[in-house]
Amino acid sequence: MSDALVPVIGLLLALAVMLPFAIAHRRRERATAAAAVEALRYGLHEPVSLHPVVDPAGCIGTGNCISVCPEETVLGMRHGQAVVVAPARCIGHGLCERACPVDAIRLVFGTERRGVDIPRIRENFETNVPGLYIVGELGGMGLIGNAFEQGRQCADGIFREGVGRGGPLDAVVVGCGPAGLSTSLNLLHRRARFTTIEREDIGGTVRHYPRKKLVLTRTVQVPGYGKLDFREIPKEDLMEVWHDIVQRTGLEVRTGEPATGIDRLEDGTFSVTTTTGAHHARRVVLAIGRRGVPRRLGVPGEDSPDVAYSLREPEAYQQDRILVVGGGDSAVEAALALAAQPGNTVHLSYRGERFGRIKEANRQRIDAALQAGHLRAMFSSRVLEIAPGRVHLENGAGRAGTLDIDRVFVFIGGALPTAFLRACGVAIDTRFGTAARVR
Ligand SMILES: Cc1cc2nc3c(=O)[nH]c(=O)nc-3n(C[C@H](O)[C@H](O)[C@H](O)COP(=O)(O)OP(=O)(O)OC[C@H]3O[C@@H](n4cnc5c(N)ncnc54)[C@H](O)[C@@H]3O)c2cc1C
Repeated sequence: MSDALVPVIGLLLALAVMLPFAIAHRRRERATAAAAVEALRYGLHEPVSLHPVVDPAGCIGTGNCISVCPEETVLGMRHGQAVVVAPARCIGHGLCERACPVDAIRLVFGTERRGVDIPRIRENFETNVPGLYIVGELGGMGLIGNAFEQGRQCADGIFREGVGRGGPLDAVVVGCGPAGLSTSLNLLHRRARFTTIEREDIGGTVRHYPRKKLVLTRTVQVPGYGKLDFREIPKEDLMEVWHDIVQRTGLEVRTGEPATGIDRLEDGTFSVTTTTGAHHARRVVLAIGRRGVPRRLGVPGEDSPDVAYSLREPEAYQQDRILVVGGGDSAVEAALALAAQPGNTVHLSYRGERFGRIKEANRQRIDAALQAGHLRAMFSSRVLEIAPGRVHLENGAGRAGTLDIDRVFVFIGGALPTAFLRACGVAIDTRFGTAARVR
């Protein structure tokens, strides 16, 4: 080989090495541009709560944060640096923060413009009300693994303070999602005297995930049961494991019993009022999550037994004329599930001009179903009244009409339990873009 060829071959080798990187880089930047347009169109560019913030002065563009994020298009790459594209899709895994080699990314609550209400909690999960604790997502930190860990730490703290004396219970645990379940199991293991009350059923938000959703989680140790050693598990299997834990440990959960009020008595103990009575305890652990109570329409007839705020078994509804109200993932998934049942006629009423913050897969499914005529969507519409066998609605132009409807399903979000917390005396801070503690 002549000496003159050496630099040429060197150049070609360098190109061969660099080209795949350059192509991947270009693809990523293009995908980011497309995702940014979509995020803007569907309002995903505005963070709802916890979300990442990238420091452009520090980011060196490794792309690690993008690769590790399990959610869709939260982060992307622009001009060789990581950027936040669809922060509304962040559910706080915190993997991006940990994957960044130069600490150029952090998770924060809220933004300068849009505050997020977070209750004030000490390191031991106690609020400003002595004896009243908050664990899990209500405290601002999402994820099942965090909820389990916080429940364990809180129960350990309660045990260290002293349990097992006579008189009032050691604790009332309110809510039995992952945080309440973990708190209760750890209290049970410590032989504390407590009761767990749950508005609905065991499982919390996880029960409401879409069918077959793959839940990402981390290893947790369950006292009296063993290690739950899986990273990914279908929602249904996870629910089965949790029910098995409850059965095997003998944990008693008073399901279908919502707490309606919490009063701190003069002696510093608590009376927790529920729909079926009251529980007297020295401490209360609030593990009620952030879904809050389902928002209602505020129209005549909404208390009818034909109006529901959740859908567990679509198969139970067949040969029905159904109206689904809402435009988020829950409404879309319910409408699709109901439209798939034999003989149903399904209408979907949404006040927006188009579906907003919904997952891409749901968007594709609903678009296909609408095109195929499996259901009808009425955008810019508003329910005025629900009467037996019919619903009165108004369209965007203020024109009213009536639909023959047997059942109405309402999915218009939830009101945060802020009022409930304030009534309990818990101090709440509105956070405008301040950093979260990732445990
Ligand atoms: C679509 C979606 C996907 C997600 N995917 C994942 C994932 O893959 N991995 C992951 O780790 N996390 C995921 N998360 C987040 C995770 O589900 C939550 O962070 C977690 O469930 C919070 O647990 P929690 O116990 O604090 O609250 P919740 O799970 O919300 O449980 C609160 C419980 O309190 C009950 N309750 C409320 N009010 C009262 C009352 N007044 N009286 C009695 N009971 C009451 C509720 O009925 C509920 O059962 C996801 C969240 C969503 C919305």
